[in-house]
Amino acid sequence: MAKHIFVTGGVVSSLGKGLTCASIGMLLEQRGLRVRLQKFDPYINVDPGTMSPYQHGEVYVLDDGAETDLDLGHYERFTHVPLTRDCNYTTGKIYLSVIQKEREGRYYEGKTVQVIPHVTDEIKDAIHRLATDDVDVVITEIGGTVGDIEGLPFLEAIRQFAIDVGRENCLYIHLTLVPYLKAAAELKTKPTQHSVGALRQIGIQPDVLICRTEHPIPADEKDKIALFCNVDRKAVIEERDRQFSIYEVPLSLVNHGLDEILVKRLHLKADPLELTEWRDMVERIKNPKHELRIAVVGKYMKHRDAYKSVYEALDHAGISNHARVLVVRVEAEEVESRGAEAMLGGMDGILVPGGFGMRGIGGKIEAIRFARTHNIPYFGICLGMQCAVIEFARDVLGLEDANSTEFDQTTEHPVIWLMPAQQSVRERGGTMRLGAWPCVLATEGFARSAYGVDQINERHRHRYEFNNAYRRDFEDNGLIATGTSPDGEIVEIVELNDHPWFVAVQFHPEFQSKPTKAHPLFREFVAASLRHRTDGRPGTGVELEARSVASQG
Ligand code: GLN
Repeated sequence: MAKHIFVTGGVVSSLGKGLTCASIGMLLEQRGLRVRLQKFDPYINVDPGTMSPYQHGEVYVLDDGAETDLDLGHYERFTHVPLTRDCNYTTGKIYLSVIQKEREGRYYEGKTVQVIPHVTDEIKDAIHRLATDDVDVVITEIGGTVGDIEGLPFLEAIRQFAIDVGRENCLYIHLTLVPYLKAAAELKTKPTQHSVGALRQIGIQPDVLICRTEHPIPADEKDKIALFCNVDRKAVIEERDRQFSIYEVPLSLVNHGLDEILVKRLHLKADPLELTEWRDMVERIKNPKHELRIAVVGKYMKHRDAYKSVYEALDHAGISNHARVLVVRVEAEEVESRGAEAMLGGMDGILVPGGFGMRGIGGKIEAIRFARTHNIPYFGICLGMQCAVIEFARDVLGLEDANSTEFDQTTEHPVIWLMPAQQSVRERGGTMRLGAWPCVLATEGFARSAYGVDQINERHRHRYEFNNAYRRDFEDNGLIATGTSPDGEIVEIVELNDHPWFVAVQFHPEFQSKPTKAHPLFREFVAASLRHRTDGRPGTGVELEARSVASQG
């Protein structure tokens, strides 16, 4: 029977609960256990697919087409756990199911449908769904912070869960903040005490406390936390802010004995911990041999999580190239107003990520033109591919008003247009071309040599596509389709045949990159950018942000 770990958060949001869950998953996996990971989000949207990136950050897409919370990206980067749409439930998704059952009229046998037991049962079913016979541990992360009204049904459900399956089969971890007060020169444990107090009021006694802190927690403060929170002293785990990288988190948890506590407390039959590959990877992050600058030109640059997986995949590519990637975040609209040379001069590579809507398109197109005409490695992703096609059509094919019908429905040259299957779609939620689709690679080109195979599977999230009526014209002039759907109908990859490295893809390769195994296209893009790198470049007027190895979490 599967064991269960529930992870809640207290005091403040953004403590890195997703990273902690991913780290725990990784540690258990590296002890030979079969793990599943799942996140509950207390908001009412059925999934994050309809939310603005400003609200929510990136929408993370799974193989099965589920549009999910970006914490699932951490799960996939840290572990090999299979993820499906059963791994992310929102309040909206739970209620939708309850309401559909009620409308069908059979399930609830005429009863009044209520939060307890019907909504909590629905939540518990979602947990059970992952606990199949071939699984040792299910880790369930509860989004939000203890004390939020909207999180209550989830907390109640995980409380009941231990009664259903036995308390000995469940373990509750609470992640809290132990803030440092400068004026008092002290770490403060009171917020943790209050947060655990709130949990206990609901009926949940945490077994393990993970305390986020900027400074080491002295022994007597740990004693205090243990005493007031009724938690075993050894189970008060310190999680210090990372110095170099988020990928250090599991190593620091091991140093504080977390994996052993979990294994003992849940009576798991586990192997010794195997972390050689992970430690090697972290060493590489700490000791890069090169440094390079990649401009990411997009429109949600101020939100640090809007292109989360792209930034992570660039880091991974850096790791595999022994390089530290300095990501320079460039607002596309600023490229329009200040010009490409001012914003992008001196960059070693340029990447335009996915996106929606008209704002900033001109700047993205200018950035791509700059990369194309200055032989700077270019990597276009989804909208970044569509813009590359528009740019080439306008400048090389001479189709001046070439456009995507997303931005101009009356353009004479719709080089990007709505996919036929999308034409009748009216509802916005979950209706794009989503999830993993096969793509056949041409025998030559950058993509083929990066992947080294003739067929790939990549994840998608788009409504518009390359218009095949123009394919011949593009190819005759040097922009070649080097990847298509197996029937040849959907162009998935285009590349320039006379450029150091210019690849643009309709899919989202960033969702399949790991720190221990960079995605081939990211790896080769960074390798090409390293080759392009010249020393003593002129200043760019763009603030450098050395986020590559440190600041994300
Ligand atoms: N807006 C474009 C489309 O829907 C691109 C989407 C994306 O970049 N994810 O096709």
